[in-house]
Amino acid sequence: MPGLRRVLRGIQGLILLGEASQRGVADTLTGKVSPHLACMTGTNRPEPRCVALTGEVGKGVRCSVYEARPSPCRELQPGDEKCNRARSRHGLAPLAAVRTG
Ligand code: SF4
Repeated sequence: MPGLRRVLRGIQGLILLGEASQRGVADTLTGKVSPHLACMTGTNRPEPRCVALTGEVGKGVRCSVYEARPSPCRELQPGDEKCNRARSRHGLAPLAAVRTG
């Protein structure tokens, strides 16, 4: 099912149902969006804010489940297109792409 996973990840952070809990994210932090799909709670709202994000955007934030974060979060890199799109929604300047590998 790797092809399906790749397609799903491209759609607003959707994850296969059970992926987050397999990684160690509490079920209370995810929401079921279809019989087979879930997302981090808060990320499917018109003004998305993941329930696992702590702090104040623009001042200092951190992921409270960083080590267990699901696959869409692992694919995002500081300064990539999705990162800068999210920053733009909050009025923040784009980051220069950096290599974190
Ligand atoms: S990296 Fe963490 S805070 Fe950000 S969306 Fe993923 S789980 Fe939520």
